[in-house]
Amino acid sequence: MHHKLKGIVIREIPKGETSRLLTVLTSNLGVITVNAKGVRKLSSPYLKCAQQFAFSNMLLYEKNGFYTLVEAALIADFYSLRKDIKDYSLACYLCEAASSFSIPGEESASILRLLLNSLYALENKLSSRALIKSCFEIRLCAECGFLPETAFCAECGSELGNDDFLFSIVGGVALCRDCATAGNDYIRLPNAVGKAIAHITESELARFLSFRISQSDEAVLSGVAERFLLARAERGFKTLSFYKHCEELQ
Ligand SMILES: [Zn+2]
Repeated sequence: MHHKLKGIVIREIPKGETSRLLTVLTSNLGVITVNAKGVRKLSSPYLKCAQQFAFSNMLLYEKNGFYTLVEAALIADFYSLRKDIKDYSLACYLCEAASSFSIPGEESASILRLLLNSLYALENKLSSRALIKSCFEIRLCAECGFLPETAFCAECGSELGNDDFLFSIVGGVALCRDCATAGNDYIRLPNAVGKAIAHITESELARFLSFRISQSDEAVLSGVAERFLLARAERGFKTLSFYKHCEELQ
């Protein structure tokens, strides 16, 4: 059976003399492994499509759950992300996180769109790496049904307004100051961080990185975003450790 789809290569490993096994996040089948025969030959027309971060229209042949690349047409290669180790390490983490939230065999167009938007922003330096990472983490959770609540108190239902509030990483809910008999899980968040989270989850994808935030609030957002994603993923990411290691380099 043939499948026509859009996909981005999130990992490539050499196979035999001239082939590659590609891990591909697709628009409609989640993450799949694709056997790309002969793509390491210089003469292969699909050389560029079979590289990490390459986004292409693909024609695949499927037999017994195994996919083979038949044809591909490159849409974007995000090649420059490979030139800077910090950009590269973050791109790897975004790819791994995106693929871990996609469900095998299921439609994953919104996750794919988010990943592409974030890689584009990273490549074109539309925002800082730290902010792209935070926004991606929160939006990814929201796209997958884990919407953090930052507008209303989970206990009394009152609007949080302009006060600081308490936020539960595990529950994804907020408490107002009056209801704040904080458990261990609750952390205090400045109101500006709540507003930023609302923007990241509610705005159109094209604008999800467009907001202003102070440096100190950005640092708080960064911590919350990462912990929120890790709590949803229920796992760690090697690529996240790699990114952090790279960020510490001079
Ligand atoms: Zn309350």
